[in-house]
Amino acid sequence: MQISLEQVRQNAAAIRRKVKVPVLAVVKADAYGLGAAAIARAIGDVVDGFCVHTLAEAQAANLWDIAGKPILALGPAEMIDANDYLAAHVRPSVFTVEQAKHLVMANPILCVDTGMQRFACPPENIDAVLAAAPIEEAFTHAIKTHHVEIFREMMKGRGLRLHAAASALLDEPSVWLDAVRPGIALYRSAARVSTTFVDVRDSHGPVGYRGFSTGRFGIIRCGYSNGLRRGPCLVNTSPRQILEVGMQTAYVEAGPNDKIGDEVVLLGDGLTELFVAQSWQTSEHEALLNLARIGVLEYREK
Ligand SMILES: *Cc1c(COP(=O)(O)O)cnc(C)c1O
Repeated sequence: MQISLEQVRQNAAAIRRKVKVPVLAVVKADAYGLGAAAIARAIGDVVDGFCVHTLAEAQAANLWDIAGKPILALGPAEMIDANDYLAAHVRPSVFTVEQAKHLVMANPILCVDTGMQRFACPPENIDAVLAAAPIEEAFTHAIKTHHVEIFREMMKGRGLRLHAAASALLDEPSVWLDAVRPGIALYRSAARVSTTFVDVRDSHGPVGYRGFSTGRFGIIRCGYSNGLRRGPCLVNTSPRQILEVGMQTAYVEAGPNDKIGDEVVLLGDGLTELFVAQSWQTSEHEALLNLARIGVLEYREK
């Protein structure tokens, strides 16, 4: 996979210009497979902070040493020594009284449930958690604007710094609050994943496990063990289909002039995360993370 650090920088700068509130870049899951350390180095001066899922992710990428910007762990609080969070300059998010008390030294932030019912504080417990530790910041994982409206109402008059918007809400100025937390929007169009044909031939009869019919086809050295699924690709700039995916190889539709050694593009060159995701019937996040597992990471400045 080739990653354009310049594209990630441009994406981050465009979000920053648009929202005019602090941008907390989500680099969890190793920056969606693109490499959290390299991404943090590329955008450290453009964004205002970073979000990971676990403390270990921030430690593994050396996030604090790279950028010196605030780091938030969005995942369920780990009941470990608060000093471990402090040492890595990571603030845990808490949703119970027990967590807030245990991690008070690590300056925790409150995670509030506004409808998703994912690890977060239910409305009726907010007062108790806020009483248990001096908490100055709260967030919710919001999918729709109404989640944020509920959040704003719940937190009214408490004087906390609030944030809710992930990439899906970056077009909704009314919900940007005091910061935004984009993930996928930082990475769109930055990754290019390709492989080459190791064989190309004209079919004679049913092909592969499914016994499907096709004309000319090629084989790539990439399969479901690498995260690949049936769907679109590009061969010599023509849109083609991945016809059948095996464990470590796949059959790809080929044109009359396609030959062994030709490049097969699985993401990039105009083949977007969204297009692949729609074809796979999944999210852009899952499509990018799957494809990011293919090949070694190679960073380009442009
Ligand atoms: C992953 C995550 C984000 C970023 O989501 P995107 O859709 O990739 O922008 C923001 N907030 C929380 C709590 C998350 O878990």
